[in-house]
Amino acid sequence: MKYWPVPDSYSRIIEAFGSQGAFWEDRGDRYHCGVDIYAREGSDVSSIEGGKVVDIGIFTSKDKVSYWNTTSYILIKNGNGLSSKYAELGDVVVNVGESVKPGQLIGNVGLVLNSDEITQNSPFYIQKLKKKGNQSMLHFELYRGIPAETANYLAGNWFGKTKPENLLDPTDYLRSLLDEGML
Ligand SMILES: [Zn+2]
Repeated sequence: MKYWPVPDSYSRIIEAFGSQGAFWEDRGDRYHCGVDIYAREGSDVSSIEGGKVVDIGIFTSKDKVSYWNTTSYILIKNGNGLSSKYAELGDVVVNVGESVKPGQLIGNVGLVLNSDEITQNSPFYIQKLKKKGNQSMLHFELYRGIPAETANYLAGNWFGKTKPENLLDPTDYLRSLLDEGML
């Protein structure tokens, strides 16, 4: 049994390649490492499948970029050699080392963007998100194995043309949850 990670997301459509919020979206000087699922701040986030929490940390903060609020990420190692990163979270309700069941509540959606700090000088994709009112979302990434820390990576963005080898496109994985008729 697998579960859609944000039961109250605005939609369950995973955007097609090239669209805003889609995997490997070209953001000018950076590429998007995951898929964004838009939802109201505070919406429940649950684990898609079972696994073990291997890492929790700060994902974004205004110390890094002024238009970011502080959000967290949770990295869960699944049983199949893959790991899932749930990011742009407000609260986190699990701990490192904890085993999680499919569909278990792990946190909630945070307010990643601070609209007051978004200006004409902000990256275009950020201005677009503000215009659409999409300031809160689950940012979801999928890896083969556990991702290593690298300077090319910043809060879900990859600075460089070559996609990291162990970073996977989660589009089909997320769409398959809907095909299976998951809740
Ligand atoms: Zn994202």
